[in-house]
Amino acid sequence: MPELPEVETIVRDLQALLVGRRADWIRVRLNKIVKTGPRRLGRLLTGARVQAVKRRGKFIIIEFNDERYLVIHLKMTGQFLWQENSNKWPKHVHVIIGFDDGGELLYRDIRQFGYFMGFSSSEYITWQKEKPVGPDPFEINEENFARLLKNRRGRIKPLLLNQLVISGLGNIYVDESLFAVGIHPLTPAESIDEEQARRLHKEIIRILNKAIELKGSTIANYRGVSGRGGEFQKRHQVYHQQGEPCPICSNEIKRTVVGSRGTYFCPNCQKL
Ligand SMILES: [Zn+2]
Repeated sequence: MPELPEVETIVRDLQALLVGRRADWIRVRLNKIVKTGPRRLGRLLTGARVQAVKRRGKFIIIEFNDERYLVIHLKMTGQFLWQENSNKWPKHVHVIIGFDDGGELLYRDIRQFGYFMGFSSSEYITWQKEKPVGPDPFEINEENFARLLKNRRGRIKPLLLNQLVISGLGNIYVDESLFAVGIHPLTPAESIDEEQARRLHKEIIRILNKAIELKGSTIANYRGVSGRGGEFQKRHQVYHQQGEPCPICSNEIKRTVVGSRGTYFCPNCQKL
């Protein structure tokens, strides 16, 4: 599933491509992708011009003029592709938005878990209230991050994956960040002291920034809008590295399961 760096990469790609362009038509080939209804989405966005593309946690928000919003969650396998002067749509393309200069934004999703929602401004405000997301790691400082973890029940990994506590992190970046500070994924959150929490936040930011710089991690099928994958998977220290030597101590990286998620760690550097 795309996490913060991958979604941020897509948002930046879309921002560069779409701002100023006007949506001329919308074609929905698989109705269930558009939760707010395909016809309504067509009425809402046809003729509207893109003003900005933003990210809220792992949601992509495309803002059109007249306060119309398109909200997208890519879930497991959602991808955007851009094409010009082509009338062919590849397999698994479920939504196409045609723009005024002939460019087409294609939404492709093999497993079909991703979704679109079209909102007026009041609906958008309601959605933000009904679907709260925790602060982005970039929106808070070390002190506030330490406060987030303080007095929390539960283990650190599931807590960091919880989008209501902190948004944007998923399996890859949680495992990499916990390794970077030597915290075992099953450590009770309440036993992490303030100094460790501050270091954890610092490492999360460092790792996310590096991943954004390298345009995300391509595991399975993640691609940017250009069709190119990310490069950060080459820098993974523990994620999907089971059986490999730990880059710090050379002990074997192990895989375990935490809250039904595959979890990678060094039992020597990350003692429980
Ligand atoms: Zn180690």
